[in-house]
Amino acid sequence: MTAKRAIIVGAGIAGLAAALRLSRIGWEPLVVERAPSRREGGYAVVFSGLGHAAAERMGLLPALRERQVDAFDLAYLRADGRPRFKIPHTTVRRLLGDGGMALLRGDIEDVLYEAVADHAHIRFGTTATAVAQDDEGVDVTLSDGSTERADLLVGADGLHSTVRELVFGPEERHRRDLGHVVAALTLDELPDGAPERAFTTVTAVGRTFTIADLGRGRVAAFFTYSAEDPDAELAKGPRRALQQAYPGQHWAIPQLLAGLREEAVYFDSVSQIVMDRWSRGRVALLGDAAWCVTLFAGYGSSLAVGGADLLGTELERHPADLPAALRAWEDALRPEVLERQRKGRANTGVHAPRNRLELAMRDLPLRLATVPPVTHLLSRHLSLHNQ
Ligand SMILES: Cc1cc2nc3c(=O)[nH]c(=O)nc-3n(C[C@H](O)[C@H](O)[C@H](O)COP(=O)(O)OP(=O)(O)OC[C@H]3O[C@@H](n4cnc5c(N)ncnc54)[C@H](O)[C@@H]3O)c2cc1C
Repeated sequence: MTAKRAIIVGAGIAGLAAALRLSRIGWEPLVVERAPSRREGGYAVVFSGLGHAAAERMGLLPALRERQVDAFDLAYLRADGRPRFKIPHTTVRRLLGDGGMALLRGDIEDVLYEAVADHAHIRFGTTATAVAQDDEGVDVTLSDGSTERADLLVGADGLHSTVRELVFGPEERHRRDLGHVVAALTLDELPDGAPERAFTTVTAVGRTFTIADLGRGRVAAFFTYSAEDPDAELAKGPRRALQQAYPGQHWAIPQLLAGLREEAVYFDSVSQIVMDRWSRGRVALLGDAAWCVTLFAGYGSSLAVGGADLLGTELERHPADLPAALRAWEDALRPEVLERQRKGRANTGVHAPRNRLELAMRDLPLRLATVPPVTHLLSRHLSLHNQ
C-alpha cells in the first residue's frame, strides 16, 4: 500500500508538529515554507496544557525541558524604571503549574525540526499559489512552478494564511482585531537597569512591554499597546510606531529603539481568526491560520502542538474516511479553542489596561500572587496552565 501524502504549508510550530505527527502514522509530509531558511528566536511563550501533553506523547519533553527558561522572577517597574513589586521565581513556578514551561518560540520550532527533519521533505523559499481538489486528491501549485498532488493539504501558515485566503476566502471575513498592536524582538543584551533572571514588565494605561532574560545570553522583548486603527500603526513601521506609543522619559525604550533592526521585529495587529469550519474537503487549517487565539490567551503554541497531535490521532482512527477524521478532529478541539479565544479577549486589559482603575485592578492580584490561594486563582485567570 502506498503511503498517504500531506502537503503542509508553513514550517512554524503548527506545521512542524503536524509533519512530525503525520510521519509517525506513516504519512509522507512535504512542508513548504515561505521564508528562505529556518526562522530564529522570536519571543518567549508559555507552553502548557494540551501542548505539553501532546509533546509528552510525541517524546519531545526532554528536549523542551533542556531549553526551558528556569527560575525567573516577574519584576514590575514604573515607566521611569523604579521598581513597583516583584513575584519571586518560586511563586512563578507555582503559577506555571506542574508542566508549564517558558520557552523561546524558536526553541520549540528547533525541537520539532530536529525530530522531523529526517522524516519529511522541507522546501524553503516556497509557497502555495493555487489549490484545486477532487474526490481523489488535492493539487497544490507551488511558487517554484511545480504542482504537487496529495491526500491532504494542511494550511499552517499563520495569522495571514495564504491557504485560508485561497480556499476559504479573504482574511477580512475571518479576522477579529482586538484593537492592539504587538511588536516582539530579540536583543543582544539586557537594557541598563533590567534585573537579571527576570521577566520585567512596565505597564501604563494602554501599553505594556516586557523584557525577558532567557538565560544563556539571550534576551527577548515584546510590546503591546492599544490602537484604534492597528493597520495605520503597522504602516508606520515598528520604530516610529513604538516611539510614538511609548513617548517621553520611558525607561529602556530609547536604548531598545536605538539598536532596533526593523526587519527583525515581529510587528502585527493582535487579531483572532474566527471560522465556522477549519476544513473544506481535503484542506485543513491548523494553528494560528485556523483559530489564532492571540498572545493575550498565552496558549497559541500549545494549541498548535495539541491540534497537530489530535489531527494525527483522528487520521489514524479513520484511515479510509478523511471527512470523518476531520470532523472528529474539529469536534474534539473546538470547545478548547473557543474557550481560549474567550480568555484572550477577556485578558486584553491585563496586558494593556484601558484606564487607571484597570491598571490598579491588574496590579492588585499580581501583588498578592505570593499568597497560595491567589496564586492558584491567578494562574487560572492568566491561562498559565491547563487547570
Ligand atoms: C508576543 C507573542 C507572545 C506569545 N505568547 C504565547 C504564549 O505565552 N503561549 C503560547 O502558547 N502562545 C503564545 N503566542 C502565540 C504563539 O506564538 C502562536 O500561536 C504560535 O507560534 C502559532 O504557530 P503557527 O505555526 O500556527 O503560526 P506561525 O508561528 O505564524 O508560523 C507560520 C509559518 O508559516 C510561514 N508562512 C506564512 N505564510 C506562508 C506562505 N504563504 N507560504 C509558506 N509559508 C508561510 C511563516 O513563515 C511561518 O514559518 C504568542 C505570540 C506572540 C506574538
